[in-house]
Amino acid sequence: MSLKGKLDRWLATRFSRRMVPMRNRVPIVSFTFDDFPESAATIGGSILEDRHARGTFYLAGALLGRLSGGVQMASHEQVGQLLKVGHEIGCHTFTHTGVPQLGPAALTKELSASAAAFSQCHGGTLTSFSYPFGSMNLTAKRILARRFTSCRSAQPGIHAGKVDLACLKAIRLYDLTIDRARLDTCMSELVHKAGWLIFYTHDVSERPTQWGCSPRLIEYALDRALALGIEVLTVRDALEKITFGGAEHVRGHRGSDKASA
Ligand SMILES: [Zn+2]
Repeated sequence: MSLKGKLDRWLATRFSRRMVPMRNRVPIVSFTFDDFPESAATIGGSILEDRHARGTFYLAGALLGRLSGGVQMASHEQVGQLLKVGHEIGCHTFTHTGVPQLGPAALTKELSASAAAFSQCHGGTLTSFSYPFGSMNLTAKRILARRFTSCRSAQPGIHAGKVDLACLKAIRLYDLTIDRARLDTCMSELVHKAGWLIFYTHDVSERPTQWGCSPRLIEYALDRALALGIEVLTVRDALEKITFGGAEHVRGHRGSDKASA
């Protein structure tokens, strides 16, 4: 990343914040997938479903059904299937372009294209966003914060006490960047803080790309979280719990009745 890119991101993480206090009583983890490859939908989705958990899949509409970097991306039908069983679909721009490269007009056009394509195919709206390449600047952050309930960055960290809705932190769940020992440390910190940890990855495969994870890794992370009493929620449902707190907001895996709303 260029020096200007780093400065833009630094400024965007520190200003124009949309801070909210966290009211969740138990620690929460969210599993998120960017772009997203077919294997995230099929293998990743099944691993979550087998444990009565759901995830958030950030979609770049123009990639649907295509090969991207040699990786097969999910199809319209697979997006529909994920929604049907209660996973969340989020927005990752339409053409998977870093938002600093888009001026305000082009960014607005991208978001409109995403919203129109999603609404036409599946109905409903996209309320969660993730920044392609984790790149961001203040102008885009302000535009996105007005349009989405949350925007997930690639800034590492675990939320505790308060959260910037326009710049959610996240930790890579890549075989190349995290192992079981580091996962255990993250989970312990999460429990200690009663915080919110968001993992992000791309493909889920026995031989993952450098941006992906193996089934073993995501299974280990999920099983560890569940064994420690950590709630596994989509970003949308985690935010509802964080914002409002209380056991009455526990939704578990029954997100399917929400997906059609
Ligand atoms: Zn991406």
